[in-house]
Amino acid sequence: MADPRGFLRYRERELPTRRPVPLRLMDWREVYEAREKGGPDALSVVSRQAGRCMNCGIPFCHQGCPLGNLIPEWNDLVYRDDWQQAAERLHATNNFPEFTGRACPAPCESSCVLGINQPPVTIKNVEVSIIDRAFEEGWVGPVEPTRHTGRTVAVVGSGPAGLAAAQQLTRAGHSVVVLERDDRLGGLLRYGIPEFKLEKRHVDRRLQQMREEGTRFRTGVDVGGSGENALSVAELRSRFDAVLVATGASTPRELPVPGREALGIHPAMEYLTQANRLVEGDWVEDAISAEGRDVVIIGGGDTGADCLGTALRQGARSVTTLAIGSQPPLERDERQPWPVHPVLFEVSTAHEEGGDRSYLASTTGFEVDEHGAVSGLMVARTQYLDGSRVPTPGTETVLPATLVLIAMGFTGTQEDGLLAELGVEITSRGNIVHDADWHTTVPGVFTAGDCARGQSLIVWAIAEGRSAAAAVDRHLMGDTSLPAPVDPGEKPVTV
Ligand SMILES: Cc1cc2nc3c(=O)[nH]c(=O)nc-3n(C[C@H](O)[C@H](O)[C@H](O)COP(=O)(O)OP(=O)(O)OC[C@H]3O[C@@H](n4cnc5c(N)ncnc54)[C@H](O)[C@@H]3O)c2cc1C
Ligand code: SF4
Repeated sequence: MADPRGFLRYRERELPTRRPVPLRLMDWREVYEAREKGGPDALSVVSRQAGRCMNCGIPFCHQGCPLGNLIPEWNDLVYRDDWQQAAERLHATNNFPEFTGRACPAPCESSCVLGINQPPVTIKNVEVSIIDRAFEEGWVGPVEPTRHTGRTVAVVGSGPAGLAAAQQLTRAGHSVVVLERDDRLGGLLRYGIPEFKLEKRHVDRRLQQMREEGTRFRTGVDVGGSGENALSVAELRSRFDAVLVATGASTPRELPVPGREALGIHPAMEYLTQANRLVEGDWVEDAISAEGRDVVIIGGGDTGADCLGTALRQGARSVTTLAIGSQPPLERDERQPWPVHPVLFEVSTAHEEGGDRSYLASTTGFEVDEHGAVSGLMVARTQYLDGSRVPTPGTETVLPATLVLIAMGFTGTQEDGLLAELGVEITSRGNIVHDADWHTTVPGVFTAGDCARGQSLIVWAIAEGRSAAAAVDRHLMGDTSLPAPVDPGEKPVTV
């Protein structure tokens, strides 16, 4: 145990300093001070927090984390100043702690036993501090396979699920190629999550390690598509012994109300992808910009918050986020007891930076000006009727809006192209059907991540990628020693 009295001596969570809002709105860098600038004792703060860990007999943090991260072990090692060993234990269960340490909502912290009557251990900050230090010290090198099996695997999609699976399979000795239709690798890590939450240099750094281990990458390859960069399913099947489909869940939920076709109304991902491209230095023809505009974001979730932070950095005149439900509670209530991950009123870094939030708001239509562009948004107060939230007649008001971003979630994976060509079965919710071994309905084709589970989290994508890699390895070799942290369809802790 790190420090037997640590949780009694230090009862508060200490987190790294965030850069002042006016300063961070001037650039795209991550909002937290770099650790070396986070004060002279930034590392000792992390050690002190790690020392609050009680090394529980039943560490519920393990249950909260789909990866089964060995949290008490690395807390103990950090407290004892053995950061290199801590990094080794961190990598034992997580291929990419630098992504989860930055962008995960940390269900492990929600289920931390200390959270019953104290603020939980700052697990996520300990995690990111370990991995950042490990990279700085040069402790993260290639882990090359000790044998080559002569078997070939294609991983389609380079999001966290595909990358985790590819790294596991390469290390198991297979010849792995990741096929990605975008021009850059990373999936939503690259073109969904904004730079201010996850700087892309972290993605590039990890890709470099994977290249050195032997994983090969091909970008601009639309597998099963029809353009000039397409790779046909026939070629895919003939070239590879196994295929893992990790293509994400990219179909946006639509809002079919009058005026939807007006100029200036866009799905959130169209906007965020372009914004990320601009930050990368690309030229984007007719790029959507929030500069000087009244922006309304429909959808109060994380994607909405990412649009908010982006619009504020682009110089929006005003930003309003609409959520259809009621404002979540500030603290756990009896419907969300420990150790479940509660839905609470969240003040993300983007919310800290500006904008208004409106709840119980349903968009019933758009006002369109003489040029065919959106000028306003009709919004009604919602009521709960027959199991769903519906607009209350007579409560409509008009909000000025010259840019509207629809961030209402996703309805599943893209069904035409690759999946249709492969002939895999898809559920009514738009997810790829798979058995207990991650096998789709087509022999030799496996799946993992959002395309199998539905839009979820990075941590689930990595966990599923690792588990599906074990299944592919077993399929190719008859047996496997790769870990499988989750079973298909496994759910977070619930009551
Ligand atoms: C805006 C936004 C913000 C988010 N923020 C967070 C966050 O802060 N924390 C968090 O934990 N989760 C977050 N998520 C969710 C998280 O990003 C996803 O759950 C995760 O990326 C899913 O990983 P994946 O590998 O399954 O799919 P993806 O990351 O979607 O990657 C799929 C890849 O497959 C490629 N592809 C698709 N079809 C083909 C084809 N036919 N041929 C070749 N390539 C193909 C796509 O181009 C894409 O690169 C966010 C999601 C969004 C949309
Ligand atoms: S539940 Fe919290 S206190 Fe217990 S082992 Fe995990 S991190 Fe430490």
